[in-house]
Amino acid sequence: MGYYAGVDLGATNVRAVVADDGGTTIGTGRNGTPRGPTGIDVTEGVLETLREACADAGVTPESIVAAGIGSIGPFDLAEGAVIDPANLPDSIDRIPLTGPISKLVDSEEVYLHNDTNAGVIGERFHADRNPDDMVYVTISSGIGAGVCSDGEILAGWDGNAGEVGHYVVDPQGRLTCGCGRDGHWEAYCSGNGIPDYTRLLAEDDPTISTSLPLEEPDFTAKDVFDLAGEDELADYVIDQLAHWNAIGVTNVIHAFAPIVVSFGGAVSLHNEDLVVDPIRERVAEMVMTNVPEIRVTDLGDDVVVEGALASALTQGTGDRRRLE
Ligand SMILES: [Zn+2]
Repeated sequence: MGYYAGVDLGATNVRAVVADDGGTTIGTGRNGTPRGPTGIDVTEGVLETLREACADAGVTPESIVAAGIGSIGPFDLAEGAVIDPANLPDSIDRIPLTGPISKLVDSEEVYLHNDTNAGVIGERFHADRNPDDMVYVTISSGIGAGVCSDGEILAGWDGNAGEVGHYVVDPQGRLTCGCGRDGHWEAYCSGNGIPDYTRLLAEDDPTISTSLPLEEPDFTAKDVFDLAGEDELADYVIDQLAHWNAIGVTNVIHAFAPIVVSFGGAVSLHNEDLVVDPIRERVAEMVMTNVPEIRVTDLGDDVVVEGALASALTQGTGDRRRLE
């Protein structure tokens, strides 16, 4: 019997799963992402986590037929490596993945995707209707999308398609994004952006009352959501977030004509009623084409590692008709 593996390389954790040829998980591994000093140390951490998942499953790495990887980027796709990842120490400039994993499992069938593309592959694989057109949107520390259009997972020539968090949503460009450009969606609505956006709205209208610790260095997006329904500023921020999020999602829908838009990421998963439900309500009034189903992933925090596994099972597509 052949086995399949999925790997999730995040800025915080490395996870791996091993499954049988029916897709049933039989082993898992999980470790903190190595902080370097070099990219090779991160590669070693990924290989060790995959070995642990194989040991947990009671199979050898060489019995893995195919492996999928969902990873932080950006990539050198030709080399199968992560290059200068934003959320790891600066000494980590290059993390080889495809080659070392291919060597470990002794298979050429290794598929590397950014984490949002792994997300859409997992969502497609586990969706009721196996849709050819769907989008996975993550709202977490940043915002990004994985797009499946006409049955193809969009990558772009350099693997950077789907960076919808850098859509310009504010033509005034009042907030500067982590990427250095102004007015981008994730500067306002990501977990990292919400604290600054809250401060901006408080400055705009000092008459709005609040008990939010705006000046504390550890003030986070969670503080805002925790005070929903109890704090005038928190409620105003949540309403404005819905406005920007609906603009971003409307742009996604007009560009890609998905039949399903599925949300993941900590901000969506922990605040479905405050973040995703309002998007659904507003988008229906803003879209001039067909309004897709808007939902939250059933896979929760497993969406990337499950997507990586689904990629291994379906030759990189998430299309159940291509199950080997
Ligand atoms: Zn940006």
